[in-house]
Amino acid sequence: MAAFLDFAIGVLIVSLVARVYNSSLQLWHLVLGGALAFLPDFDMIIPLVRKKYAGAEDHHASLMHRPILVLPAVTFAAWWLGGTPWAIVAFLCVFWHFVHDTKQFGDAGLAWFWPFSKKEWSLVGPEDPPQNPKVVDWIYGRWLTPSPMSFLEITIGATALAIGSYLVFGYRTAEVFFVLPLIGAFFVWGLFSTIKK
Ligand SMILES: [Zn+2]
Repeated sequence: MAAFLDFAIGVLIVSLVARVYNSSLQLWHLVLGGALAFLPDFDMIIPLVRKKYAGAEDHHASLMHRPILVLPAVTFAAWWLGGTPWAIVAFLCVFWHFVHDTKQFGDAGLAWFWPFSKKEWSLVGPEDPPQNPKVVDWIYGRWLTPSPMSFLEITIGATALAIGSYLVFGYRTAEVFFVLPLIGAFFVWGLFSTIKK
């Protein structure tokens, strides 16, 4: 479910940057921004599809979750393909993702300064990474279970999505984009708790 918050903040970033640059946006621009904010978690797509998590148990240890590598690479690629506005969008989206992966901001923790430090840095300073992280816990705990945290994330995400779509498409669309995620979240949680039983 937290993937939704990433996506929504990505949409918001694209629409804000477009505002600053006074450029008009299309739907796919927003989708691309959302995808950029979700990009580091693409490291889970293959393990999820194959349902094999060996070597992917701590997915924050994959190369996709190494800010010092990924931030310059993504920013440069975006600048090469789309110029300065997209470089700014890409940097902000991926940077946001890593902030969200940091302890206190919704996830387990991130080794911000790898390869210089293997510790997970956050507001309380450096900590050792978890010994035996379980990716199944990450999926169920982070994505499929309703909690005050996930409810807060869905609400913030729905608000970000609404502001972003308001800036581009106006009130009507913003209303839809605010309500749909909430309905979607309750649907997924309901479905999952039924399956679990
Ligand atoms: Zn991540």
